[in-house]
Amino acid sequence: MNTIILKFGGSSVADNIKLNVVAKKIINLKKEAKNIVVVVSAQGKTTDRLIKEAQELSAVPDEREMDMLLSTGEQVTISKLSILLNRMGYPTVSLTGWQAGIETNKIYGSAKIKKIYINRIEKELKRGKIVIVAGFQGFNENGDITTLGRGGSDTTAVALQAALKADKCYIFSDVDGIYSADPNMITFAKRLDEITFDEMQEIADAGAKVLHNRCIQIGKKFGNDIIAKSTFTDEGGTRVCEGIENRDVKSIVKNDSLITVIMNNKNGVTNEQGYEIYKNLLEENIIVEWFERDSNSFKFRIKKAELNKVQKLLDSKFPEYEIVLEDFVKLSIIGYGIIQDNVILNQTMDILKEYNVEVIKISLTQSKIEIVLDDITEETMELLHKKLIRKER
Ligand code: ASP
Ligand code: MG
Repeated sequence: MNTIILKFGGSSVADNIKLNVVAKKIINLKKEAKNIVVVVSAQGKTTDRLIKEAQELSAVPDEREMDMLLSTGEQVTISKLSILLNRMGYPTVSLTGWQAGIETNKIYGSAKIKKIYINRIEKELKRGKIVIVAGFQGFNENGDITTLGRGGSDTTAVALQAALKADKCYIFSDVDGIYSADPNMITFAKRLDEITFDEMQEIADAGAKVLHNRCIQIGKKFGNDIIAKSTFTDEGGTRVCEGIENRDVKSIVKNDSLITVIMNNKNGVTNEQGYEIYKNLLEENIIVEWFERDSNSFKFRIKKAELNKVQKLLDSKFPEYEIVLEDFVKLSIIGYGIIQDNVILNQTMDILKEYNVEVIKISLTQSKIEIVLDDITEETMELLHKKLIRKER
């Protein structure tokens, strides 16, 4: 079966004019394959708006109801796109996550795909339909709607590629590929023609909002390349694939969406208390990046977006601690084998020193230098980019 998956992000489907562009793109790509499966995100900033509206009703909204609410965004897009393509003479069918057979685990808000029952999609494809699937959602064993976490439509697309054994998966957005830095911040950022799954994984984990981090794991596991391209031009594009890694720095990512929570107790803290706190965080499915104990405190890093939830938990279960929050910026310099190359670390340190950047912590892995800072200016980011990626003297 000759099948391709086309995923369109929120800004590509933001309004009726853009939906028309997307529809034409889909019709054009029909030349490439017999079967077309389209995955879409919610329109524009719909998901942000829905989250904000819910938080106006409750600071910590019920998670099951949040998934019920957020899944409506994608449902609007699939039906609109389907209405349009049908009118243009192309038979289509829109399917929500559960109609498309996407079964997930129970965790609302960050559910993982367990299995995809492909019979419905296959039946529709056999009937000659273009199948349009709502990204970012599935159903769990309670029969409830779940969502896969912010940006999760990419993961829906790559998971469908694996389940349907599709030949290709295109991730279309308003950017024409993967860049060495956020092109909105660094104007001369370089587009990469190719990047390995491992490097891409580091970039996504570092906090760059390019591809959902879990879709990269799935692509690597099933050996399926992912092609990131622009909806609005045929030029450019980046292929995420297995590759022979070279030692170049591929990307520099600044992440300011995390926060350090410090729990002080003047009477000292024990190992047992640490276990207790950590266990409670895990039970609430909070992603803890890092957890540390010293004589009078516990420290850990979480996403700012989860702060309300964590504060509620700490207030109710651990009222004896004084809570202090510390803002920081995480800088990640990514490229395979970076740890073997002192030159890169040296250059980085020289630049940070020259600009008086306050360095809090440095850690190294095979393909990443991670530096925790109090803050970093655009100018410093640009210079790092010039020296490490463009190799200017
Ligand atoms: N609509 C969801 C979000 O904004 C999922 C996605 O766009 O991939 O996070
Ligand atoms: Mg996205």
